[in-house]
Amino acid sequence: MLAANIAPETSESIIARAAHKSDAPFFCPECGAEVILRQGNRRIPHFAHKPPVTCEYGSGETEAHRQCKIAIFDELRAAGVPCELEKSLPGARPDIFFFWNQEVPCAIEVQRSDLSVEILALRTQRYHELGVFVLWLRLFDNRLGEAMYAPRPWEMWLHAAYFGRIYCWKDSLRIQPVSLASITRQEDYRTWYAPGDGEARLSGGQRTLKRYRKPILYQECHLLTDFRPRLLSAWEGKNLSLPPRRLFLVQTTLPTIHPV
Ligand SMILES: [Zn+2]
Repeated sequence: MLAANIAPETSESIIARAAHKSDAPFFCPECGAEVILRQGNRRIPHFAHKPPVTCEYGSGETEAHRQCKIAIFDELRAAGVPCELEKSLPGARPDIFFFWNQEVPCAIEVQRSDLSVEILALRTQRYHELGVFVLWLRLFDNRLGEAMYAPRPWEMWLHAAYFGRIYCWKDSLRIQPVSLASITRQEDYRTWYAPGDGEARLSGGQRTLKRYRKPILYQECHLLTDFRPRLLSAWEGKNLSLPPRRLFLVQTTLPTIHPV
């Protein structure tokens, strides 16, 4: 958590890097418990619950997540975009809240690996109800450059919700769109002898891998110039249903940066 409240009964918050230990105590905006300020040369200043930790908020957040959040926040501010870190909204607390084009409320959520599809769907629905357009970001890593990748359920959910793309943060406001393409394999032809007649038979065909996808990387996009808010209606598929949603996404076709 990069921001904490300055008193238990207030929503007035302070960003960890602007806080001093002498300003303590600080309070978790979610549960109201006192949190401690963590600062150091090597890490991004943040707040953490005191043990034993019973509140989920801020748990599982890595240094890479914090880097992503603070970098986007700083770049948006430098570009003159009104924005807030970890803003408290009714029923949601986006990592970054900002006004696209100075007027359209948008949220960025940096995905943590442990979030369930159910929570992801509920939070997407909540943003829709609040009239806020959301971009769920995943951190980019080298596994997405490999030929085969085993996506987690939330990645497949986002892939469907965002029309066959997931958006991965690289640095600054640079976002890498990635598609997860199905992989089909030609099954081996097998020969055997049927009992009785001794004849050779053949079998074989196309098989789609269930667990693995091939990541297709597209040309990088810029968070402010390439993304747009878009309102989408509910969608019901064979194995998946998507709620009505307001998303912040890239609508145009993009060239791939390596051959399919
Ligand atoms: Zn808490």
